[in-house]
Amino acid sequence: MIDRHGRNINYLRISVTDRCNLRCTYCMPEKGIESLSHDDILRFEDTLKIVKVAASLGINKIRYTGGEPLVMKDIDKLIYETSKQPGVDEIAITTNGILLYDMASDLKKAGLKRVNISLDTLDAEKYKSITRIGNLSKVMESIDKCLTLGLKPVKINTVLMRGFNDTEFEDFLNLTREMPVEIRFIELMPIGEGINLYEKRKLGFGEILKLHPELIQIESEKSSTAQMYKLKGAKGKIGFISPVSCKFCADCNKIRLTSIGTIKPCLHSKEEINLRKYLNNEELLTNTLKSAIFNKPLEHHLEEEKASRSDKMMYQIGG
Ligand code: SAM
Repeated sequence: MIDRHGRNINYLRISVTDRCNLRCTYCMPEKGIESLSHDDILRFEDTLKIVKVAASLGINKIRYTGGEPLVMKDIDKLIYETSKQPGVDEIAITTNGILLYDMASDLKKAGLKRVNISLDTLDAEKYKSITRIGNLSKVMESIDKCLTLGLKPVKINTVLMRGFNDTEFEDFLNLTREMPVEIRFIELMPIGEGINLYEKRKLGFGEILKLHPELIQIESEKSSTAQMYKLKGAKGKIGFISPVSCKFCADCNKIRLTSIGTIKPCLHSKEEINLRKYLNNEELLTNTLKSAIFNKPLEHHLEEEKASRSDKMMYQIGG
């Protein structure tokens, strides 16, 4: 569906839970998180109702995220039912990869097409420190498994942070020499816990690119927000996503559904539209979603405001 600014909105990201099995320092506080109760979280059938209505309005791409989507019971069934919805032709997940090794095969059978695995460091100790809990080898095994299963493309999301993992940039580049993965370096955003680290850790990609003239610019996928590069002869690619320093709102094609049933037309705006109360009235549900899409804000204001205006943190929205 075309919004009031002429953008074709065809992509819905759905956060199925705010729970996560990691505690990444720039995303979630270590303690004091009150997880939502099961009654607060949209039921499986309710999520499907929204997917159905969204598909009728031209959404053809669904991404399940969280929290951690793989901690949700029956995520494979949700993916399967989603794959049967007329109009939906691409289902993806964003995951930290910790539980993926054991689940990847079932998820693929259920209809999963694409996987983004979040991985900020290739060093086991640093991985433990940034995630506060995680085991790097589990994520690496999951990446291999997805490649073996032919889930294509396997994308790796890496938030590049000054003084934390910028020194590993070449190690990530070297990974693409042998592995057919797409590593997407994402700017740290001043949202949630990221606000506390932003000034110290923010890193624009211009300075990285200047240091690496060996990177060859290549064409980006249609509707991708990444600027793509590769090393000569490499099996994989790398991308830079710069939501703060080089915002791409004019090309934004997404809306987001939180696990409590609100639509966020823009990641960084306070605005949330509650769909929950219309779940038993398909006409009202459709009209409310239509209006939310049509009125999607033109752009975010991170560059003037210095912090996201969203009342929710990334783990409550899903990225
Ligand atoms: N648990 C899943 C995962 O780790 O991929 C999905 C949810 S997580 C919130 C989605 C993405 O948001 C991750 O790639 C994470 O690195 C990113 N993220 C969280 N906080 C961020 C921030 N302040 N700036 C940039 N990316 C952030």
